[in-house]
Amino acid sequence: MRNLFWVIGVAVIVAIFYVMNSADDESTTQQNEASSAQTSPAPTIGLIDDERIKQAESEPGNWLAYGRTYEEQRFSPLTQINRDNVKDLKLEWFRDMGTNRAQESTPIVVDGIMFLTSSWSKVYAIKATTGEVIWSYDPKVPGEWGRRACCDVVNRGVAVYKGRVYVGSLDGRLIALDAGTGKLVWEVDTIIDRDRFYTITGAPRAAKGKIYIGNGGAEFGVRGYVTAYDAETGEQAWRFYTVPGNPSLPFEHPEMEMAADTWKGGEWWEIGGGGTVWNSIVYDQDFNNIYIGVGNGSPWTRVIRSPGGGDNLFLSSIVALDADTGKMKWYYQTTPGDNWDYTAVQDIALADMEVDGEMRKVLLQAPKNGFFYVLDRADGKLLRAKPYAAVNWATHVDMDTGRPVENPELSYLEKAKWILPGPLGAHNWQAMSVDVDAGVVYIPVQENPLIYSMSQEWQQTGLYKRNPGGWNLGIELGAIAQVFLENIASQPTPKGYLKAFDPLTGEERWAVEIPHYWNGGVLGTAGGLVFQGDALGMLSAYDKDTGEALWQFNTYTSMLAPPITFEIDGVQYVSILTGNGGADLFAGAPMEPVATPASFTYGNYGRLLVFSLNGSETLPAPTVVDQNIPEQTLSDMSNEDIALGERRYGEFCAVCHGLIARSGGSIPDLRLSDAGRQQAFRQIVLDGILAASGMAAFDDVLSVEDVDRIQAYVKARAHEDREVALGNSDAPRLTWLAD
Ligand code: CA
Repeated sequence: MRNLFWVIGVAVIVAIFYVMNSADDESTTQQNEASSAQTSPAPTIGLIDDERIKQAESEPGNWLAYGRTYEEQRFSPLTQINRDNVKDLKLEWFRDMGTNRAQESTPIVVDGIMFLTSSWSKVYAIKATTGEVIWSYDPKVPGEWGRRACCDVVNRGVAVYKGRVYVGSLDGRLIALDAGTGKLVWEVDTIIDRDRFYTITGAPRAAKGKIYIGNGGAEFGVRGYVTAYDAETGEQAWRFYTVPGNPSLPFEHPEMEMAADTWKGGEWWEIGGGGTVWNSIVYDQDFNNIYIGVGNGSPWTRVIRSPGGGDNLFLSSIVALDADTGKMKWYYQTTPGDNWDYTAVQDIALADMEVDGEMRKVLLQAPKNGFFYVLDRADGKLLRAKPYAAVNWATHVDMDTGRPVENPELSYLEKAKWILPGPLGAHNWQAMSVDVDAGVVYIPVQENPLIYSMSQEWQQTGLYKRNPGGWNLGIELGAIAQVFLENIASQPTPKGYLKAFDPLTGEERWAVEIPHYWNGGVLGTAGGLVFQGDALGMLSAYDKDTGEALWQFNTYTSMLAPPITFEIDGVQYVSILTGNGGADLFAGAPMEPVATPASFTYGNYGRLLVFSLNGSETLPAPTVVDQNIPEQTLSDMSNEDIALGERRYGEFCAVCHGLIARSGGSIPDLRLSDAGRQQAFRQIVLDGILAASGMAAFDDVLSVEDVDRIQAYVKARAHEDREVALGNSDAPRLTWLAD
């Protein structure tokens, strides 16, 4: 397996030698018409530049940047669709994206064309009024890379800038395409170490002639950073690391010297350190800043990562960098010494707001940790930190020190504890919307706990060894189902809400409870509406002042992606992508009273839906997925071996196929495997015969015996759920653990 990674690494490095550099192309091919195919002609489509985005309010019909404008408020001034007529909103057109993997993209809409991404980092340019595909681009991410992604082969969108479309591919390339033709202009490798499991899922941001991009992979054990590239040539302009590297090596930039003082003991650089910038990167025209939202530590538990204590900068921080040089101007750490996967990568919005009687340029973020932060963009001063969801890990944020006050009773060092929020966060990457006039933020909120427990290995030996092919958390993942079941009586009920929250007073203006916690992003409009798609497949429009549901459309597929709106030739449209997945390990194991996601019941259809008041299109009738579990030929393995299989499953399989072997509908549910698949189990897991679809070989980390044990566990789980379905048993009991 190591050889295979090496081969992929070399292939990519070779590919980079073939990168086309447009500036060079012009100088070498202008005299040579024969090779003009290599030349990028002057672009005529997607002509968005800094000046145009600055004036974005003068063209409300377009959606020019990831969060609509550089302020990323995701609040549209359009009013044609409003409270009075939203009941007449109908499907105008839809397009099957040809995939059942998760959809997370925010489209950019400019001059009648919609630019968006789908799974495997594929890019589409689509006529926004009809759904006709103008061009598409497949970066041909190797299928094996699917194994390196924590949360499915997702992508959250492109940047469109000066006639080019920029996308980060799952395998870590930043790619520039001609906006008119979809032809490759240049691509660069953004990854510093291809042996580590780096991925890109976030949308690049474009400003000041540069493209800004980070990456993901903290769970697998990587070191985070963000890089700026020249938009024209792809040449690297600067790179900012978010956590220190090996202390025996020189610091890459002065900020690392300061950060290194906050890491004590341990060998975090061996495991990775974490701090990946996998989502939010925002450009601030007022201060010429780039704000980056920094992710969690790797491993999650600080006692392993930095046993001597310390805040572990810049984990879980918002960092302001000079957009031209990458020099740090200020930082604010939301969760010093992160111990829970509390990333601060959630969308950052910028606004001008009156705070304590003074107009201020503020930054707004609802990171995973459950507190809503209002910072002064001039200097990073903390202005507010009110809880927007149920939180028990900390009692409050001390406004004098700017630090959260942790609840010592919830230390999970000695004993497993239910902690709120869990690692999915009180809010994740699913976008919020900022309504500045109303002084309100509309947030997709989750109250979803996790039982945190130190890993068995650490409890027994006090040691932790890096797991190069899997997750590196430090908490117990292998036997989490056991820990979960042992403590289920004390579990806080998981809940999902759409909330209208006042970030200055902490007041909840209204909240709509949603039957599942893992729902989609949010769009607010001056038409008095808040749009959101949910796990049950309902796309809803709520009255933005009261939360009353004014319109609903059943898509029969769970949604994560945020809706957007645009206007072309006097017609306002609302659009959204359907398709469930992402980080929710429990997606296929709904816990009462959490409702079953639509994608589990009806299948996971990646579709782009566009609505207008004149629409007359309908979706194909839904069909219920056959969830009948085939009868199993149970193995005669001992309970000890099946329990070991469960541990291996939890360590290597659960992140995609779901906890307790129940998938959410995006990735195959192993309990439903037919006899042929069961027969080929070893070949699939060890030989990688399904690698092209993302199921790479695991022969680097699993033995034949492990694989047989995993299969025995999956069959045992399938048998239990089949017995429940047939009415022969009340609930799965993990019977191999009974003694
Ligand atoms: Ca994480």
